[in-house]
Amino acid sequence: MAQISDYFPYPSYRQHQREMLEAVAATAETGGILMIDAPTGSGKSSVIAPLLAKANGKKILVAVRTTTQLNIFINELNLIRKEKKPDLTYAYILGRGNVCPYKEIYPELHSACKKLKEKSGSLMNQAIDKGYNRPEFCPEIKEIIANENQEEPTICPAYIHGICRSDDLDSQFAFTPEAEDLIHELIYTNIPPDQLIEKAGSHCPYELMKAAAIRSDVIILNYVHILPTYIRPKLYKSLHCQPENIILLFDEAHNVGETILEHQSVTLTKRNLERITKELTKFNENNAYALALLPIITNIQNFMNKLMHKKFEEDTFSPQEFESALVHSTKYNTIEDIMLDVIEIGTLIEIDYSKSNDYREPAISKLWQFLYRFNCIKTNSDYLPIYLKERKSDLETEIKLKIRYIDPADILKDITDEHYATIFISGTLQPLEEYKKYYFRDKEIKLFSSPNVFPEKNRCIIGVNDVTSVSSRRTDPENNYNILTCINSLDKLPGNIAVYFPSYAFMYKYLELYKRCKSGKKIIVEPQNPKDRDEAARLIQEFCNLPKKGDAGILFAVCGGKWSEGLDFKGEMLTGVLVIGHPLSPCTEVRRKINALFDAKFHGKKGSFLSYDLPAINKSLQAFGRVLRTESDTGVLILAETRYTSRFLSKFPGWVNNEMKICSSKQVRSLIQDWIAIH
Ligand code: SF4
Repeated sequence: MAQISDYFPYPSYRQHQREMLEAVAATAETGGILMIDAPTGSGKSSVIAPLLAKANGKKILVAVRTTTQLNIFINELNLIRKEKKPDLTYAYILGRGNVCPYKEIYPELHSACKKLKEKSGSLMNQAIDKGYNRPEFCPEIKEIIANENQEEPTICPAYIHGICRSDDLDSQFAFTPEAEDLIHELIYTNIPPDQLIEKAGSHCPYELMKAAAIRSDVIILNYVHILPTYIRPKLYKSLHCQPENIILLFDEAHNVGETILEHQSVTLTKRNLERITKELTKFNENNAYALALLPIITNIQNFMNKLMHKKFEEDTFSPQEFESALVHSTKYNTIEDIMLDVIEIGTLIEIDYSKSNDYREPAISKLWQFLYRFNCIKTNSDYLPIYLKERKSDLETEIKLKIRYIDPADILKDITDEHYATIFISGTLQPLEEYKKYYFRDKEIKLFSSPNVFPEKNRCIIGVNDVTSVSSRRTDPENNYNILTCINSLDKLPGNIAVYFPSYAFMYKYLELYKRCKSGKKIIVEPQNPKDRDEAARLIQEFCNLPKKGDAGILFAVCGGKWSEGLDFKGEMLTGVLVIGHPLSPCTEVRRKINALFDAKFHGKKGSFLSYDLPAINKSLQAFGRVLRTESDTGVLILAETRYTSRFLSKFPGWVNNEMKICSSKQVRSLIQDWIAIH
């Protein structure tokens, strides 16, 4: 079998890197689960080398969460190809939403694509039967394409363009020689993701990526292709691979748990119910299912209206009350009866939509998803029925019903049991033992923790012990004053600095106070609206460019926000970071109940620590880690939270709690002055 060195593309190993890669090689060879905590600088993207060395014919899937991570692995694989293995094959898969020319037209792109391909496929079959080797040259298809309303296409020209008659008896379709050239280029040379659409020209980029993935040794894809239980089997089927022959690598694996919880949960809104009612009303006159189901929607609306008077903004609702409210004065006795009719009418609506070339997913499928998850409550206590009151305006409050999934452990068990080997790696999988408990309980798995390899002299770590974000002290004048003292002290550090807060409300409050303290630094504030992605990218670019112009800025951002993870502020881009508070999610009734459920699972407070405090500590660590991205970077790192200098200090990596200078907010300024004097 190949050795790590056969694939390792660098002249030498970094400190502790060899041990890490050997741990990966052992898991890739014998199977099982490995969790790795590897801080910035440990060379974690090189884990791909031992995976390739020990794959032994198995496919390697690298699951990432962001485009930055995707590009890091692409660069690593390109380097391996250049230095060691010119014939290495790899591919990446971006979601249809990123590459499909119809992404603006169809919000539910997956189902629209399926239907466009179905209709295109049947026309292509007819064209081939008529003797056209290239269906796109068939006059009927040409005519349909020429007369299509571009806003409502009925077939997909990009898909048809890449297909020709197959010589293989088992299959009617093959890729055209031009499409084959592009697939070859995707597999063997480098088409960067940002050039894919242009390079694909009039071919479907998604189909090219998928074909390249089927033929490659390594596939890089997004978490959302792997983690949701309803997507993974379909994806593997389309890629012709079985999980027992896959080695799976999760990068930035501290996000895996949260992603699972998000995708296993489902929310039913007023808007969903309105769309369902509209659909059913259209069918009402001559369809018994629609007639029977309309009162169900009214019953859900009535149930929501009653929740409007509840005391809390969010809380659990009684499943028994929901079920009896749902079937009240209807022909149904149980949720299962309703679900059967929802499936029947859903199929009819889908057929009806297709007839009029409407490729939307029927709105009623949302009801099915909701009821399906609701039914899971009966056998699985990890599904929690909750309501959320959302204030739309002074006059309007909306109630949403949600089936919230609360514990990723069962799904992670299924994923890791299915696959030959699974490796979880992150720069902040800390404390590793706690993540292991949260993700895998007592299951036997291998752990590897790499120390921080950057020189200690390059950093000054300060822990402030008289500041907190605990809700009972948020309006305490002394606490407020201490927080402002920390910000103003860091402000004295030359160059760009960043301050991270536990919430946007917290951030705005101190932003206003800071503005009164006149500073020479340019203030850059993280936009709160997730839709302001372009503006956020422009602002962060402006911030990073300030030092080049001889200027300096102060970044106001939020832990867990878009600027707290995945950004590499190298060198002079950032010289100091201050993390204020412990960024817990709001302690609502639902949160209290989830904590109690976790405490019951773990027979003590450990449960709520794992499900509530651990993700918050991780957010702080992520924000904290924006400074010092390379071995030569220097900087000041401040954690301003009483809990971090006491109860939770041991939960931080060894290098943080060993080096932390614990002090009051008043003393921060002199520590920073000492730092400035020697740097
Ligand atoms: S086949 Fe490709 S181009 Fe056509 S709808 Fe699907 S993803 Fe879009």
